[in-house]
Amino acid sequence: MITEKEKALKNGARSIYDMALETFDKAADLLNLEWDIREHIKYPERILIVNFPVRMDNGRVQHFEGYRVQYSTARGPAKGGIRYHPNVTLDEVKALAFWMTWKCAIVNIPFGGGKGGVVCNPKEMSLGELERLTRRYTAEILPLIGPEKDIPAPDVYTNPQVMAWIMDTYSMMKGYAVPGVVTGKPVQLGGSLGRDQATGRGVFYTTQKAVEHLGMKLDGATVVVQGFGNAGSVAAMLFEKAGAKVIAVNDSRGGVYNEKGLDVMKLIEHKNKTGSVIGFPNSEPISADELLALKCDILVPAALENAIHEGNAGKINAKIIAEAANGPTTPEADAILEDKGVFVIPDILCNAGGVTVSYFEWVQDEQHLFWDEEQIYAMLEKIMKRAFDEVLNIHLKRNVSMRMAAYMLGIGRVAEAVKLRGLYP
Ligand code: GLU
Repeated sequence: MITEKEKALKNGARSIYDMALETFDKAADLLNLEWDIREHIKYPERILIVNFPVRMDNGRVQHFEGYRVQYSTARGPAKGGIRYHPNVTLDEVKALAFWMTWKCAIVNIPFGGGKGGVVCNPKEMSLGELERLTRRYTAEILPLIGPEKDIPAPDVYTNPQVMAWIMDTYSMMKGYAVPGVVTGKPVQLGGSLGRDQATGRGVFYTTQKAVEHLGMKLDGATVVVQGFGNAGSVAAMLFEKAGAKVIAVNDSRGGVYNEKGLDVMKLIEHKNKTGSVIGFPNSEPISADELLALKCDILVPAALENAIHEGNAGKINAKIIAEAANGPTTPEADAILEDKGVFVIPDILCNAGGVTVSYFEWVQDEQHLFWDEEQIYAMLEKIMKRAFDEVLNIHLKRNVSMRMAAYMLGIGRVAEAVKLRGLYP
């Protein structure tokens, strides 16, 4: 299947990974990073492409393609989620692994960056098919993963159940339980309390800081959420609890709007029951384009890459953009938003709460001692707010965008690590 992205590439457009590397170069220039270090850290360390068969429910064998990219292991084991989506490409997985690298460095956890993906449509697959796909994919990437080497986690359309199958498959091969091979597991298998809320919570904490910095208030603020998966729904719930009004939300099937505010808990229930936010009582339908153009205080893109692009950035009417998704804003859109004076909390800072609690999970697995939820949220809040302050500081001191400041912090830390480690051999 040729995806939209591949078509665009064939037409000569830059790929998402090309765009990522452009951002790297800009940040590296601002850091005055020497050539040797750039050459050392700019590219992915290791890429595995796997093609593997899965027995489908109809009795036939179907082939799937998957990837695992280890971008960097300079600061620790590679770390990053696995995405199941029909539009997954190697190029996208490389970009996602690139972002994980700087993200882990920004929150200063001892991980490198990685990512995995399988080209598949989990919405059209049975549970049994998903399990067989997951187990076979795990077996295929087995040489790469391990608690000291590369630790997968959930991403778009993968969840704790998928992580449990990965953990089981890996453990079966080893002959003993290895919970630390993967994070985002069910709590019963060595998962961490609070991991399910971690990404949305991180979005909330960093937005609290942005609101404070801009002299605004969360109480009474209006919020629009694009994408109502794990990150978007938890962020929406926390904004509502803080007194904000979530006026519009959408997912891949459609959107809902109520200027007086949607009841987020009920909306989550509705989505769990029906599979979408559409048809939610006391709301009007809203298109994806209209939703992004709504006047609001906080816009939370929480779906896929390139949601905010050259064509719609000019219409955005938000004071803050809190990037819960990875790569939701193209560089062209970034320039437009900067001109408009929109305050952007960049993805690699804003959504780093997920991998931060993944780090807590891995530590708990390795030490076989578990912490309570309060402790985890307190540590998460401290890390997210400290990272925000560090990025803000660079933004103000160097007069660069929040995104550039985040890259400078992340790339600077990875650069320091490779300088200290030196060059092998
Ligand atoms: N997929 C999440 C992300 O993009 C979490 C990764 C992890 O926990 O390793 O940050």
